[in-house]
Amino acid sequence: MKILLVEDEEAIRSGLTDLLVYHGYQVECARDGEEALNKAREQNYELVILDIMLPKIDGFTVCETLRREKPSTPIIMLTAKDAEEDVIAGLSLGADDYVTKPFSLKELLLRIEAILRRVYPDVATREIILLGAEFEIDLSACEVKDLCSPENAVAKLTFREADILRYLYRQKHRAVSRDELLIEVWGYRKESGIETRTVDIHIAKLRQKIERDTQAPQYLVTIRSKGYQLQGFRESE
Ligand code: CA
Repeated sequence: MKILLVEDEEAIRSGLTDLLVYHGYQVECARDGEEALNKAREQNYELVILDIMLPKIDGFTVCETLRREKPSTPIIMLTAKDAEEDVIAGLSLGADDYVTKPFSLKELLLRIEAILRRVYPDVATREIILLGAEFEIDLSACEVKDLCSPENAVAKLTFREADILRYLYRQKHRAVSRDELLIEVWGYRKESGIETRTVDIHIAKLRQKIERDTQAPQYLVTIRSKGYQLQGFRESE
């Protein structure tokens, strides 16, 4: 999922970029309205996050132009607090949603996810991960198909195992620590006692299902002193 972030304030731009990349999105930035329109014309984004007060061309004009030229690209506007008329103007120019500054990052993330689920239901529900040419994982069905076995033998995943894979896949460009898995997958709070053994046991069980050689994992890889990372997957079409 590629997001175009249009924001002239450096601090917000870099903070948001870090957050979105951390959550598995690809992000490109534009610093003013002109750059935003140029980028949006050059390639397709799944979502545009658009500030209103921008140099060169303001956010309203960008919104209106995008709506005309890229009618299906969802737009979330960033508006100043207490600027109700901005919200109304933005929505009437075709923005799909808005978040008022200063916004909580969690709130913005939830808005983004909600819009993406609504606009791209197929992508959201398609949960197939291919590991090399060996395994096909269907996360929603909690199944792993061994593509090399004569009858494509199927192993069942527990919900927890599927959640771990789903999370690792969403963070696929980086390693994920055990603490992070405990917080994000198990829902443990940071301050609670961290039971890293729990994670290791689940990883070991997962490897029995998605690795040929559990002693030399190719897909669910340990990155030393960083955690676990999913590697060797192919993007399914
Ligand atoms: Ca601004």
